Amino acid sequence: MSTAYPFARPLYVMAKPAGARCNLRCEYCYYLEKQSLDPPQSSLKGRESERVWERYIRDYIELQQTPDVLFTWHGGEPMLRSLDFYRQVIRLQQYYGRGKRISNSIQTNGLLLTPEWCRFLHDEGWLVGISIDGTREQHDAYRRDAQGRGTWERVVQAIRMLDEYGVEWNAMATANHVNAQDPLGFYRFFRDELHCRYLQVTPVVERFKEHSDGRRLAHLFDEDCPLASFSIRPEEWGRFMCSIFDEWVRHDVGEVFVQLFDATLAGWMGVAPGVCVYAEECGHAAVMEQNGDVYSCDHFVFPEYRLGNIRTHGLPEMLYGAKQNRFSRLKKEALPRQCRQCEWLKACHGECPRLRFLHTADGEPGLNYLCAGYRIFFQHVAPFMDYMRGELLAGRPASGVMRAF
Ligand code: SF4
Ligand code: SF4
Repeated sequence: MSTAYPFARPLYVMAKPAGARCNLRCEYCYYLEKQSLDPPQSSLKGRESERVWERYIRDYIELQQTPDVLFTWHGGEPMLRSLDFYRQVIRLQQYYGRGKRISNSIQTNGLLLTPEWCRFLHDEGWLVGISIDGTREQHDAYRRDAQGRGTWERVVQAIRMLDEYGVEWNAMATANHVNAQDPLGFYRFFRDELHCRYLQVTPVVERFKEHSDGRRLAHLFDEDCPLASFSIRPEEWGRFMCSIFDEWVRHDVGEVFVQLFDATLAGWMGVAPGVCVYAEECGHAAVMEQNGDVYSCDHFVFPEYRLGNIRTHGLPEMLYGAKQNRFSRLKKEALPRQCRQCEWLKACHGECPRLRFLHTADGEPGLNYLCAGYRIFFQHVAPFMDYMRGELLAGRPASGVMRAF
């Protein structure tokens, strides 16, 4: 997954303490099949595993140039690791923190939450990102457990439990071929039923391609691969976000934070967005697997994008090294002419390279699959963004836009 935080960070390494293991079998998951990577994401045991995590915590804190350090625990399902594992994480963060302000977030499907977990999350001030795709019908379409049962009810119960214990949480939703059909039902569910204030919506797009190691999802460079049926289509994505925007811009500016809207406004203002997919370059969001392997990005956990292993390489060496620099710059350098000349480049930047598998009208490779949707969206929101930019430049809150149109 891409980063979920409302501010850009200089360097960022998301941790995968349970690797690709998960208690769910969501149909569109891009990470579950990473278990079949070769070399396998073998679980290190005992002292060897402890050393990996201790080194990660120490190096990651040292790496940061700022007094604030944000750790993100991601999966797979990170709650498959025990609470004792995370209690040890806290001890190590305190030991190596030396005056830095350390915060943690954990992204989870919520099914393993218990009162004991909630007390820990509350007492330690962790932010929880909960994966939920909307109403019961929308969510259960693809987010099922190993027995094929829908999980919506259990996720909503988990959210209620977080609320009960005063744990701060954000919603991480996907936009897919099913929930794209009812954007207002989707948005109002989060706003009116969950009272959610931070919503990240990630478009799901996957193509199929059988690999010899058992993986079934296509890599960026695989050609002529059929689109997975759960994928959102470009125009669906554009219309989906336009409908949500229309509701938001009239009622909820300053109350509900939708990541794409914030990022678009940042683009209009000429400042870095808080999410890599709309930034000029990649490379600020590496991941570390449970065996210590570090990869360029959560969406590029492929052997070609392995930067090294923390047992033998330092994080600075891997993250400032030539390989990661190349990966980072490529997002901008590989833009086709259509993007370089696009009026929406300031907010889009060609979006995420993982989806750049189309050719432009004049045959150049590297166009983002969702381009047509983004053009619909940016065209639609432009007058509102112009207005909000003007308000902010005049020192007034952007929420004035709700009365202006
Ligand atoms: S490829 Fe780049 S833009 Fe896409 S998720 Fe990774 S770091 Fe972000
Ligand atoms: S809207 Fe399309 S052409 Fe414009 S920058 Fe984005 S992907 Fe490129």
